[in-house]
Amino acid sequence: MKSHARVVVIGGGVVGVSTLYHLVRKGWTDAVLIERKELTSGSTWHAAGLLPLFNMSYSVGQIHKYSVNLYGSLEAETGQNVGFSRVGNIRLATSEDRLDEYRQYAGVATTIGVKVEFLTPEEVREIWPFAVTDGLVGAIRHPDDGYIQPADLTQALARGARAGGGTIHRNMCVTAIRQKANDEWVVVTDQGEITCEHVVSATGSFARQTGAMIGLDIPVMPVEHQFIVTEPHPDIVARREQGLPELGVLRESDGSWYMREERGGLLLGPYEVGAPACYVDGPREDTEYELFGEDIERLVPHIESAIRRVPMFEELGMKKVYNGAIAYTPDGNPIVGPAWNRRNFWLNEGHSFGITAAGGAGWQLAEWIVDGEPTIDMLGVDPRRYGDYASKAYLKAKNEEAYSHVFVIHYPDEERPAARPLRTAPCYARMQALGAVFGQKFGWERPNWFAPEGTPQEDHWSFRRSRWFEHVGNECRNVRDNVGLLDMTAFAKARVSGPGAEAFLDRLVANRLPKTIGRVSLCHALNSRGGVHSEFTIQREAGDCFYLVSAGALQRLDHDWLGKHLPRDGSVVFENLTAAMGVLVVAGPKARTLLERVCDSDLSSAAFPWLTGQEAVVGLAPAKLLRVNFVGELGWEIHHGIEYQNGIFDALMAAGGDLGLRPFGIRAMDSLRIEKSYRMVGTELSIEYAALESGLERFVHPDKGDFIGRDALLAWRERGFANAFVTLAVDGPPDADALGNNPLYADGKAIGRATGGNYGFRVERSLALAMVQPDCAAAGTALEIDILGQRYPATVIDESPWDPGNERLRA
Ligand SMILES: Cc1cc2nc3c(=O)[nH]c(=O)nc-3n(C[C@H](O)[C@H](O)[C@H](O)COP(=O)(O)OP(=O)(O)OC[C@H]3O[C@@H](n4cnc5c(N)ncnc54)[C@H](O)[C@@H]3O)c2cc1C
Repeated sequence: MKSHARVVVIGGGVVGVSTLYHLVRKGWTDAVLIERKELTSGSTWHAAGLLPLFNMSYSVGQIHKYSVNLYGSLEAETGQNVGFSRVGNIRLATSEDRLDEYRQYAGVATTIGVKVEFLTPEEVREIWPFAVTDGLVGAIRHPDDGYIQPADLTQALARGARAGGGTIHRNMCVTAIRQKANDEWVVVTDQGEITCEHVVSATGSFARQTGAMIGLDIPVMPVEHQFIVTEPHPDIVARREQGLPELGVLRESDGSWYMREERGGLLLGPYEVGAPACYVDGPREDTEYELFGEDIERLVPHIESAIRRVPMFEELGMKKVYNGAIAYTPDGNPIVGPAWNRRNFWLNEGHSFGITAAGGAGWQLAEWIVDGEPTIDMLGVDPRRYGDYASKAYLKAKNEEAYSHVFVIHYPDEERPAARPLRTAPCYARMQALGAVFGQKFGWERPNWFAPEGTPQEDHWSFRRSRWFEHVGNECRNVRDNVGLLDMTAFAKARVSGPGAEAFLDRLVANRLPKTIGRVSLCHALNSRGGVHSEFTIQREAGDCFYLVSAGALQRLDHDWLGKHLPRDGSVVFENLTAAMGVLVVAGPKARTLLERVCDSDLSSAAFPWLTGQEAVVGLAPAKLLRVNFVGELGWEIHHGIEYQNGIFDALMAAGGDLGLRPFGIRAMDSLRIEKSYRMVGTELSIEYAALESGLERFVHPDKGDFIGRDALLAWRERGFANAFVTLAVDGPPDADALGNNPLYADGKAIGRATGGNYGFRVERSLALAMVQPDCAAAGTALEIDILGQRYPATVIDESPWDPGNERLRA
């Protein structure tokens, strides 16, 4: 074994081998993979091999699409047959809500170039003659996917990797990993050590054990998953003998199972409620090709459902039940990308559809490692979308839930109940008493909306305007006319200080830092290609001290970005203040009057202008007031020591009764921000769009001096932009708004996608934010938007339809 390599991949399942294959393909031939037993002896060997393209996540959709394309060409490249049966894949619908889910999904598929067709029940019957169509309202079909032989696929990728110069060690176990002062890693195995620049962990069910070797709590825990293989059925055998095509994959979403042909019989895989997490403390040391005992009782409701849909299933003898470990994360998507707070350590873990995802995940991770950035927006799978809150107990509850939710309808406003409440702001109980209906983000409970008295304090999810729509409208109107109170404690907060702080931040962000003490600026950290990685609100607190606020859901991502760019000479100190500070927002034309009643600072615009901050006393509590907000009204964010929150809350509520002070939630905030055309990371802002494509001219100053991404952004501009950010007025259906990922058309031709949408209650119209071809971006351009499968007129309008001159913010 050689003692040095550029990169070591740990784990010889399909995911690790694909990572090696892609690293080698990108020219990193000095790459070594270490597998403790035989290739595929973890989860890969027993997978059913299905390759579903369907996924509601943009990132995962792209990954799956790449895989299916790659697998189609592997045999020609490597000579290894991978058993790819491109038989197509039908997903059934028995309710209108399910069809809405498919319609929304079809929008995602169209924007990323995945082919999907809608079928009538009769068409389902033609393709799948053994299925009855009772209760069906429709279906979708992916003609291009199907299933593959997972072990053969892995061997093909291994062959390709070896042919390119990669090395694979089998029967070698990684026992420890340590990092040297020069950032190199030493991977210790039971047969010696390898020193390398980069390590990739692709260890399936062992992820938490591998993480523990470097003190990393990886949010992955497997769940048991079963499928049944039956004896052959004469009718299926007869079909094949007659030369009829193989039955495609069939998914009964509302019965939570998949089915396909297997050697003249059928294979049935359910996603059962009550499937337990497994390997909670890690697999045994000698685990290999392991299956668990079958649990037929758990399968029974799904077998019954399968018999109702495919009556011949009742006649089939059960040949074998496979019950194996399937890696899970709390949201069911894998974790692909850099480990947080570690340099050059990469994760390709948590794959529950790992056969499908391996190709794309290996591809993007190799791009990231070799070139420093992925090429598609990977936020949906980024390991840093979780935080410290994802404890072992949390994972057990959440991963079991994620598994049982694979086939539930993925409503855009869905909030899942397991492991809640977990992180609560001090005002949680007060908000609850005021009618809050909560959602969870990054472990935090946040009021989504408020049920007025007499309205059930429970959510109602839909792809269309739901029961909460009117109440959210009232919250928005109250912010417009009076004053609203919003809990934003979940914000990520940090302080960056020290003699090198200014130079460090100046190089990190594209905007000019606030010059005078107290000033606030909106600043974007670009990646090295000129796309947007992070957005920070930055206040200069003192000459060499800055206060940073960013999205709560992106806390670990943003703070990791800061940490990895921090100079190592000790000249800059980074402090995470997220858990120490609460944030309450007051916004609306009466916000000043309200705040003046509980705060003796001069809050006039002359003394306290927009985009500035001051220390103040609110009620009895010391606080930092920032005159900014995300809703486009006169208002302040009150940042305070967390222990003062309820005192401040009570003081505001006591003072605001006659001013119409009412709480509002995240759903109102989203509507209000869309009326201001405010962008968000993950939708309008992305590494896939140049910062200037996203319309950030006001915040990007290439002439200020060098900053990360500057030259790449200028070169991108030189090459020409493919997109422009626009705001759209939508003449959509009476009961639905754009949800994001809606295809857009001009003269029948696809020219972009909506990134977000909502009803604007202040401007009283449906709105969308979008990225379109630059020649379609002029105000007045007439477009069409796809909303739940129908096209509607949409017109490009000037940015910020509500208060375009920001007069209310400056009032
Ligand atoms: C019953 C069942 C059916 C499934 N069906 C499908 C399907 O139809 N479609 C689909 O896409 N997915 C399916 N899956 C999921 C799929 O099997 C997994 O997502 C996929 O195999 C994950 O691959 P992996 O490489 O991440 O993990 P694994 O295949 O588990 O590989 C990890 C490897 O890392 C090695 N390793 C761990 N620690 C060390 C160490 N310290 N040193 C060296 N080596 C180490 C292990 O030995 C193992 O071989 C199914 C899963 C189950 C259980």
